[in-house]
Amino acid sequence: LGDKLGNVFDNLTGRGALSEKDVNAAMREIRVALLEADVALPVVKTFVEKIRREAVGEKVIKSIKPGQMVVKIVNDALIDMLGGTLSDEDADKEEAAKATHLNLSGRPPVAILMAGLQGSGKTTTSGKIALYLKKAFKKKILLASLDTNRPAAMEQLGMLAKQADVGFLPIIKGQSALEIAKRAMSEGAKGGYDVVFLDTAGRTTINDELMDEVEAIAKETQPIETLLVADSLTGQDAVETAKRFHERLPLTGLVLTRIDGDGRGGAALSMRAVTGLPIKFLGTGEKLDGLEAFDAERLAGRILGQGDIVSLVERASEVIDQKEAERAAEKMRKGQFDLDDLAKQLGQMQKMGGMGGLMKLMPGMGKMKKQIDAAGGIDDHLLKQQQAIIFSMTPEERRNPALMKASRKKRIAAGSGMSVQEVNKVIKMHRQMSDMMKKMGKGGMAGLMQQMGG
Ligand code: GDP
Ligand code: MG
Repeated sequence: LGDKLGNVFDNLTGRGALSEKDVNAAMREIRVALLEADVALPVVKTFVEKIRREAVGEKVIKSIKPGQMVVKIVNDALIDMLGGTLSDEDADKEEAAKATHLNLSGRPPVAILMAGLQGSGKTTTSGKIALYLKKAFKKKILLASLDTNRPAAMEQLGMLAKQADVGFLPIIKGQSALEIAKRAMSEGAKGGYDVVFLDTAGRTTINDELMDEVEAIAKETQPIETLLVADSLTGQDAVETAKRFHERLPLTGLVLTRIDGDGRGGAALSMRAVTGLPIKFLGTGEKLDGLEAFDAERLAGRILGQGDIVSLVERASEVIDQKEAERAAEKMRKGQFDLDDLAKQLGQMQKMGGMGGLMKLMPGMGKMKKQIDAAGGIDDHLLKQQQAIIFSMTPEERRNPALMKASRKKRIAAGSGMSVQEVNKVIKMHRQMSDMMKKMGKGGMAGLMQQMGG
C-alpha cells in the first residue's frame, strides 16, 4: 500500500498548481490502492469521499503546494480513522489514552480474554502482553490456556510463561475450557495475581460450538478486556472475522499481529472501521519483545509509506537556504545546473545526514535513488571527496565543464588529492544529474528541496 500511495503522491508533489481533475485522478488511484491493500469496499468509499471533500476545496487547489496539502489530508484522515492522535486537546488525549491502553482497573485478579482465529497469534500475544505488563507496570500475571483440543498449544503457552517469567496455570487433563477458566480465576485470586490471561482455543473458521464456549467463558469470568487478535496479513477475511466475533463477544479492543510481515495494512483500517474498536497493540515479531503499543500516527505513516516527513522538513528547513534553493531550482529547470550547484547540493546533503539519511526520509525516494545509482551513484563516503574535486576547479571550469580537457583534469586531480578517473566520475555524474533534472523538471531534487525549504 505504501508504494502505491507513494506513486500517487509522487505525481502530485511534482506539480505546481493542481486542478480539480488532478485531485479526482489522485482519489481514483488512492481508491484502487486501498482496494488492492484489501481495505473493505465500504470503508474505502467512506474514506475516499471524506478526503475528496477536503481535497477539492478551494484551499488546496489554490495553495502553493497542493500536492503536499493532499498528502496531509490523506495522512490526517488515516490517523483519524485509525483512532485519532494524542497530540490534540487534553480531553482528546485522555479519551485516546483510555482507548488505546489496557484497562486494568477493578478488583484483582482481572481477566483478559484472548479471542481470534487459530494461528492469529493469541498465544504469542498473551505472552507478549504479559511481559509488557510485568515490566512496565509491575503486574503479577497468570497465563492460562483454555485450548483443550491441542495439548501442544497449552505447552506453548507454558513455555512463553517461563520465558517471560510469569505464572502459568498447571494443566489438568479432562477439564473443559469453562472449568479451566473458573479454576484460573480462583487460582489467580489465591495466588495474589493482578491479571489472568485466558488464552482461548484455536478455530480455523468461525465455529458455533467454539463460539458458544467462548461466550460462556466471557459471561463467567467477566473479562475487563476482551481482545480480538487478528493477523494483519489476512486482508478481507479480517473484516468478516471481526464482525462475527464482535456479534458474540463484548470485545474491547483489537491486536493486529504480523505487522512486521509484508502486510498491506488494509486489515487494520477495515477492522477498526467496521467494529469501531480501538487498536491496542501491534505484533511486530515472533519473539516476546515484538509488541508495540498502538500509535495511530505511526501506523498511518507506515500505510502511507511516507517515511518521517515531519523530521525531514524540520531538518531541511534548518540547513537549506531558501533563496539558494530557489535559485538552484530555477537553474535546474532551465538546464543550467552547473558544478557549483552540484558542490552546494553535496554540501547540503552532508549536513542532512548524507544521502542514506535523506533517502530514508523522503517520500518516493526509492525511485530517485535508483536513478541516481544508475547515474553513477552518490556514496555518502564520497560526498566530501566529490566536493573537494569540484572545489579544485576554477570558476570557469565549474560553470562550463566542457572546458575540462586532460591537462586540466590532471591539475584538478592533483589539487584535490584524487585520481583523474575520480574527477571524470564527478563530471559524468554532474552531466547525468543535470540531464535527469532537466527531464524531471520541477519535480526534481531542487523542486523538492525548494518546497521543503518554504
Ligand atoms: P494462536 O493460534 O492464535 O495462539 O497463534 P500463535 O500465538 O500460536 O501464533 C502463530 C504463529 O504466528 C507462531 O509461529 C508465532 O510465532 C507467529 N506470530 C505471532 N505473532 C506474530 C507477529 O507479530 N509477528 C510474526 N512475525 N509472527 C507472529
Ligand atoms: Mg494458541
